Order: sequence, then structure tokens, then C-alpha cells
Amino acid sequence: MQHYKMTIGGQSVDTENKFAVINPAKGQHFATCALATTTEVDAAVKAARQAFTEWSKRPDGERQHLMHEIAQLLETNMPELAQLITQETGKPLNGLNGVGANMELMGSIGWSHVTADIELPIDIIQDNDDAYVQAYRKPLGVVASITPWNWPLMIAIWHVIAALRVGNTVVIKPSENSPLSTARFVELANTVLPSGVLNVVTGFGDLGQALVSHDDVNKVVFTGSTETGKKIMASASGNLKRLTLELGGNDAAIVLPDVDVKAIAPELFGAAFHNNGQTCACLKRLYVHEDIYDSLCDELAALAKQIKVGDGLESDTQLGPLQNEAQLQQVMGLAASIENSGGRILAGGHRIERDGFFFEPTVVADLTNGTPLVDQEQFGPILPVIKVTDAEQGLELANDSQNGLGGSVWSANSEIATELAQRLECGTAWVNSHGDVQPDAPFGGVKQSGVGVEFGRYGLEECTSLHTLKIKRA
Ligand code: NAD
Repeated sequence: MQHYKMTIGGQSVDTENKFAVINPAKGQHFATCALATTTEVDAAVKAARQAFTEWSKRPDGERQHLMHEIAQLLETNMPELAQLITQETGKPLNGLNGVGANMELMGSIGWSHVTADIELPIDIIQDNDDAYVQAYRKPLGVVASITPWNWPLMIAIWHVIAALRVGNTVVIKPSENSPLSTARFVELANTVLPSGVLNVVTGFGDLGQALVSHDDVNKVVFTGSTETGKKIMASASGNLKRLTLELGGNDAAIVLPDVDVKAIAPELFGAAFHNNGQTCACLKRLYVHEDIYDSLCDELAALAKQIKVGDGLESDTQLGPLQNEAQLQQVMGLAASIENSGGRILAGGHRIERDGFFFEPTVVADLTNGTPLVDQEQFGPILPVIKVTDAEQGLELANDSQNGLGGSVWSANSEIATELAQRLECGTAWVNSHGDVQPDAPFGGVKQSGVGVEFGRYGLEECTSLHTLKIKRA
């Protein structure tokens, strides 16, 4: 069985203790990973601090070049990394609408290239006989990155490339459920990066806590649940670390009566069910105008019944298993609540009886706000479709949530849809699509879905502090 080690200060580091990594399509472990303690956290932060002095002074162009080289390494090693992602997350290699491990690799490569090329220009505020005043961006120091299990490599890339690009050094702790692609990515990146610039420690939440409360860490970038995000905010207060928190979402979509139901049903289905619903910005609550409610429900249920669920390594699999047993239990608990909440299951509703953590793609009608499946983030293949009498009611119910990550409006009239989308309480609103993030546009949550943004110029700025320089001339 393959064993994965950490990379600290440019060296491969193993530990006496290790933990098993499970393939969710089989429910059995297929690899092991080093289990770090605070000793390794201290060593990784120390290595990152030492490397920061030289790395932060490097000319920008050299760092950009190295980010492109990392993208090239991902491309060269794509088959190995994609297979590893499928084994550790369960997501298909290709998957529904091409959303799978290969796409995760392609996205990681694309994000790295685009982020490498983004500039943070100096802002000249005054330049006259009295004085020269400029504001410019400086790296923060050592960045701690904590990632979840759903898109392990892509989210690692989102955190790491932005932080390194502008001169920080990084210690990353991936999720204990899917640490392997990150451990391998860091190992590969260390073949081109100077020692200590990028380090990885592997272990559970207690290790993450040790890292985010470390006194020599300057910033934490975290993607994961709102509950953990709150703990991290508290842990980071000791030395007032900067924070970017990308947390849970319960994204709503509002569908107006003028849509072409047959045409948009597959798009809505893909937005809700890709990666088995285990994406932060998946569509999780669907508010549909009463005039088209029944026909859209029928289309979605028919799509759910056609989906090929299976082991992601098989080429025709569209949806894999839930990533872990706890997530399966969460989905089963929500499914069990449907009858009492007055819901009607139109497709699916049950665990699939085979090894691994499989659940049927499930579409549920007749629920509304105030029921568990609507109010809680399901993070699984189970979508509530809610009937509304008009657009304003849809908006009111969509905004009636503690989350505010993404949201969308679907209509043939883009003017009306845009006006409504602008009133959605979320970080990103889409018109006639949902969840299609891109590397040059900011992405983040409002309310309890997060603090700050990633991607593009705005995301890079969050990896820096603003430095003002004034030179007196008269
Ligand atoms: P999680 O919060 O359970 O774990 C995430 C990471 O935090 C893991 O690496 C874990 O080991 C670590 N951790 C746990 N306790 C910690 C602590 N006290 N201090 C520091 N680190 C700690 O999340 P998950 O179950 O892995 O991921 C699913 C959640 O992530 C969902 O809610 C989903 O919506 C969210 N998510 C959000 C985004 C986004 O961009 N907003 C993206 C992907 C996932």
C-alpha cells in the first residue's frame, strides 16, 4: 500500500504514526499518510519563515515564472494526480458535464497560469513639488492554508499560488479525508521552488488548530465549514492574523416563468448535482415559479433517474459516492426528515446498497423554508425544489438564510433577471448560470459564508498588506 510523506523545508519528512486514507467508492483504505504533531508544525513554520526573507525579495518576474513552471508540472503529471483525486474523493475522472478529477487538474493548471500573470500595480497618490506619495502591496509573511476534502487540489492551488505569487511563503494542511493529491503536489512543486517556500503537514483538525494559532503565522486562508471557520477566527486572534474564510453555502436559484423548461433543466441539474452536490457553490435550493413548477420538477426527476452512479475510475460514471461516511449520514438524515416536513420525493431518496458511500440522486418537491433540507447545507445529491408565486417571494425566501455564498436567477428576460440578481444577498450572483467561477473575478461569501475573497486582483490583494510611502520634496 502506498504511503505519502510530508515536505518540510524542501525535505521529505515521515512520522512514526500514520493514518489511513479511504477510497469512498469501496469504503476501504488504499493508502496511508504521515500523521504530524506540533513538532512538524513548528518545523514547517520555521522553514517558511526562513525562506520568506529571500522569497519576498525576489523580482516579481521570477516568482511569476516559477508559478508557470508549477502549472507545467501539474500538466506533466496530470494522469497520476487525476487518478489520485478520484481515489481519495470518489469523484469520477470525467463525470457529469465533464466535472471530475480531470477538470480539477485542468482548472488547477488554468488558475495557476492566470494568477501568475495578475499584477498589483503601485498606486501613485501624489507626485508634485511638495511630495511623492505611493501606496503599494507587500507580502504578509508566512501564510497557513487549511483545505477541505471536496476539491483538494484545486482549492490548494487557489490558496497556494496566490500567496506565493506575491511573495509569501506557505504551510498547507489538507483535509485528513483527502490529503494525498496535496502532498504529491507540494512534493512536485518543491522540485522547482526554493526550500521552505512551500511546506505541507498532514493530520486532523487538531493539527490545523496548532497551525492557525501559531504565533509566527501571519495569515490564514481557510476553505471549509462555517463551524470550523468560527473556531479558526478565534484561534487566529492571538497575533491578529489576517484571515480569508471561504465557508459553507446554501445557494439559491430563482426560476422565472418565461424560461424554456426543457432547455434549462439539464443546466440546473448540473449546477446542483455535479461532484454529487459536494461543491461550496452548488445550487442547493431551487425556487421555481408556480406556472412551470410541475414541468420543471418532472424534467429534473427524469434526469436524476438516468444518471449513472458508480466508481469514478469507470469511464462512464457520472456521479461517484459521497466522499466520506459522515457526509453520507448527513444526507441520509436529511432524506429521513422529508416526510415529516411535508416533502414529496420525485426521484431517489435512498442509500445505494453496495460497498462505499453511495446515495441515489434525489429530487424533492413541496418543501419550503423552515424545513431541514431547505435550511441546512446538504452537501450531497439531494435537491429541494420549492414553489413560489412570484419573483419577489422567490427573492425573499432565497435571502432568508444565514448563508450568502452564491445565487442565481434564470429568465429569458436578462434585464428583469439582472435586477433581481443584484438584490440577492450573496458574494456572487449569476444570471442564467450557477457556480461558474473564474480565476480573474473575485469570489467569496457574505453573512456566514465567509470573510474576504479569492481570485483575481482582489484575491491577490488579500495576500498582502498595503504600504504607504511618502517622500517629502519641499
Ligand atoms: P471542515 O471545516 O470540516 O474541515 C476543513 C479543514 O479544516 C480540514 O482540513 C480540517 O482538518 C480542518 N480543521 C478542522 N477543525 C479545525 C480547527 N479547529 N482549526 C483548524 N483547522 C481545522 O470542512 P469539510 O467538511 O472538509 O468541507 C466541507 C465544507 O466546506 C462545506 O461546508 C462546504 O460548503 C465548505 N466549502 C466552502 C468553499 C468555499 O469556497 N466557500 C469551498 C469548498 C468547501
